[in-house]
Amino acid sequence: MTTVQDDDLACQELVEIITDYLEGARAAAERERFGAHLEVCEGCRRYLDQMRTTIRVAGTLTEEDLEPAAKDQLLRLFREWNRT
Ligand SMILES: [Zn+2]
Repeated sequence: MTTVQDDDLACQELVEIITDYLEGARAAAERERFGAHLEVCEGCRRYLDQMRTTIRVAGTLTEEDLEPAAKDQLLRLFREWNRT
């Protein structure tokens, strides 16, 4: 898959693997796909910035640091941003 047609799905995927992405733990093709999505998705760029800041402050970030409720809220925000 080389195109991003379902932004909601892509945003959700990005949230799910954001820690791996930031650590460079994902395959190059997948990172490219996410990079392309970030270029067109302001919500995910903000989320990525937020994650980078969190990592800078905390020194590390694990999947366990992301509470499910916070994830749900972020995904709702993404959908509102993407609606414009
Ligand atoms: Zn997105």
